[in-house]
Amino acid sequence: MRIKLLHNLVEEMAGENTGRIVDILFGKRDVNEFLIAKKMELTINQVRNILYKLSAEGLVAFIRKKDKRKGWYIYYWTLKTEKCMVKLELSLVGKIDELNHVLRDRETKRFYICKPCGIEVGEEKALDHGFSCEECAEVYELSDNSGPIRDTKAKITRTKKNLALIQDELKTIREKKAKKRARANKKIEKQENERKALMKVARAAARKKVAEAKKKIVKGKIPAKKKVAVKKKAVKKIVKKTKKIVKKVAKKKTVTFVKKLKKKLSGRG
Ligand SMILES: [Zn+2]
Repeated sequence: MRIKLLHNLVEEMAGENTGRIVDILFGKRDVNEFLIAKKMELTINQVRNILYKLSAEGLVAFIRKKDKRKGWYIYYWTLKTEKCMVKLELSLVGKIDELNHVLRDRETKRFYICKPCGIEVGEEKALDHGFSCEECAEVYELSDNSGPIRDTKAKITRTKKNLALIQDELKTIREKKAKKRARANKKIEKQENERKALMKVARAAARKKVAEAKKKIVKGKIPAKKKVAVKKKAVKKIVKKTKKIVKKVAKKKTVTFVKKLKKKLSGRG
């Protein structure tokens, strides 16, 4: 059903007989425009014409790749399902509005018909022409509104059903999107936590080195100022190296990594 509705939407936007393109694009990604042309039995320019119209409405997106042998660009097209559904929703809401208007008119107003011509007019126009047909001068008859009322009500029911279908589809699409976004956020958060944990280990290791150096100074093991400077420089180097490792490993699994890092730091004097 949604495919049929999408057909109608595309034809509203891009003209008669263009709806078939939905069958080719629906549920796929990056479809080669030459393949579309072949399947639709149209020239590449005719297909591009349709796609440009749909693109202007935001219903399709493209990427382009250079054909290495021929040297020109080939476009690959994807139907933007959510955008299509939003547009369909709007279009159906508009249609229901229109139908409600028609229904109200049929329920509250009088219409007149010239049976030989099959032309129907509103009361005002009928009055203007003295209740006789503009074309053939036959006297107008009062229209029976019960048929149009029944038809319009049926159309409203049908359109509302389609609207509910599309809104359901939209809900599913949006829920999927939200879940995907949540997953991505969680992953980023996890990586950030891992990075923080690693930095904590690295900083602790660096602090330990500095404390050890200070202790040695107190104990008089390294009496000369020069020697202290050398030691500090060494610590700096370790910290720098640690940061580098942390950065590198932030992308990988953590636990074994922290262990490795701790071993690496404690292994050196
Ligand atoms: Zn007439």
